[in-house]
Amino acid sequence: ETQTEAVRTAVEAIADRLADEKDHLTDLDSAIGDADHGANMDRGFRTALERVEETDGDPADLVKAAGVALVSEVGGASGPLYGGSLMKASQELEDGITADTTVAFAERYLETVEERGKASVGDKTMVDALTPAVHTYRKSIEVDDREPIDALGKAVDAARRGVEFTTPIRAKKGRASYLGWRSVGHQDPGATSTLYLLEELLDVAT
Ligand code: ADP
Ligand code: MG
Ligand code: MG
Repeated sequence: ETQTEAVRTAVEAIADRLADEKDHLTDLDSAIGDADHGANMDRGFRTALERVEETDGDPADLVKAAGVALVSEVGGASGPLYGGSLMKASQELEDGITADTTVAFAERYLETVEERGKASVGDKTMVDALTPAVHTYRKSIEVDDREPIDALGKAVDAARRGVEFTTPIRAKKGRASYLGWRSVGHQDPGATSTLYLLEELLDVAT
């Protein structure tokens, strides 16, 4: 399998998973938002899959095409955050997919989400899943000298704990923040969909 095909396979796995989780993500968003996160992610990644299937090029081109599809298809907070960040981070894959380029990709993706959303850890957003995942991935590769797949496994575990951490805290960014303390006790939809993406990346990598 070429790296280009690997990207298509990954986007397909993510699109399938988000279709399966559509109702669950909608339930999460109906508790603290406007009940569209499931539909947003499902529609966004279905379109992203169509784009990467018709795009020829290297992995960076395909990831960029997926990002463009998400930005154009999803109007809410999550479209520009997921899509714009994929577009930016895709630049780090121009030399192909290696341990080093995936670390750079992950860090650029997180940086872009933070820059655009102005959220930090503890604000009850996707950043709470993404930050521990990206930091764990980099440390596992650069400090602990693990293989990328192994590092990704650790990153998924870290993201899962990050998602759990969103439940007891109060939202300070996004629609859920309008609820103030009433957002406490609910799991964040965007952190949850971020975990699903990472789980699918791990699944196709192993
Ligand atoms: P909308 O809130 O516009 O309806 P979605 O429901 O698709 O968009 O996405 C909601 C998710 O987006 C939240 O659960 C949260 O994780 C994420 N989110 C919202 N605002 C921000 C932000 N400023 N920074 C990071 N993530 C955010
Ligand atoms: Mg919503
Ligand atoms: Mg919305």
